[in-house]
Amino acid sequence: MTTRSYNLYRYSIPVDSQLILRNRFLKRREGLLVRIQCKDSEGWGEIAPLPEFSEETLEMAEKQTALWLKKWDEARANNEKLSLDGLYPSVAFGLSCALAELKGTLGEQGNYQVAPLCYGDPDELYEPLNKMQGEKVAKIKVGMYEANRDGLIADMLLEAIPDLHLRLDANRSWTPAKAAMFAKYVKPEHRSRIQFLEEPCKTRDESRQFAQETGIAIAWDESVREADFVVQAEPNVAAIVIKPTLVGSLQKCVDLIEQAHACGMKAVISSSIESSLGLTQLARIAQQYTPNVTAGLDTLNLMEHQILRAWQGSDLPVIDLNSELIEEVALN
Ligand SMILES: [Mg+2]
Repeated sequence: MTTRSYNLYRYSIPVDSQLILRNRFLKRREGLLVRIQCKDSEGWGEIAPLPEFSEETLEMAEKQTALWLKKWDEARANNEKLSLDGLYPSVAFGLSCALAELKGTLGEQGNYQVAPLCYGDPDELYEPLNKMQGEKVAKIKVGMYEANRDGLIADMLLEAIPDLHLRLDANRSWTPAKAAMFAKYVKPEHRSRIQFLEEPCKTRDESRQFAQETGIAIAWDESVREADFVVQAEPNVAAIVIKPTLVGSLQKCVDLIEQAHACGMKAVISSSIESSLGLTQLARIAQQYTPNVTAGLDTLNLMEHQILRAWQGSDLPVIDLNSELIEEVALN
């Protein structure tokens, strides 16, 4: 009989005080790290429900994970495979990564080229953009200030950097009138360098209408996680954004990626502000399943520490299991 073992850890690390999720300031990022072992192999996963976005809380995720691990251990006696169906998205994702590492099905190599994220001050973009190799692509959060200001900034950047491509994210914050106001300030000759604008309006139909009227391509993000969503080719829809912590198991994410590719759309792997452990796994998933697409993983610098594994090129301090910011969860 093969022996299995597992450990569960809870981490809590400080984050940049400017980080706002929907209507709340996030002061610390908290989550779980799971380690599973079987014979000589081990696998790690991160389970970190994102406040304001995940349906499950950290406590709910912790309970469910503990129960699954117990069953997983028991399943070895019958050589059973334990399913991830019905688990919360963050739990299914973290456990599926740990299983993939255990089985060696997740490649080691990661895609660490990310689209630098700008929360408002466009001057912050010049340095990271100058360092980028290949495709120059940046992401700007829009919809937090005046729509005409957002339009002016996007247009100015596209004007100033002729090989720049932009991804914009409005998080469904605009009325059709505000979205039109944004577009009014982006010169028609610059619009094709907007790779996509994520979810400009409150409804999918309003967003489709905006894309049709302006010629600015859009992408689905929030929609991807809605029950009635189906991946399909549509005019002006360039991509779907996949945030695995909010979507579910690696297999579910891979299914979505394959459906998007079959429709001629990009699939963009994106972060839910995981620690460096989860983030480096997302970079490996991106490398393996969405090669040649810059992932949306520029969130590490919101944190003060990395956990266990270092992001390529980052000099943020890495903490290990001895840190007081990580605590083992007692399991029975
Ligand atoms: Mg988005």
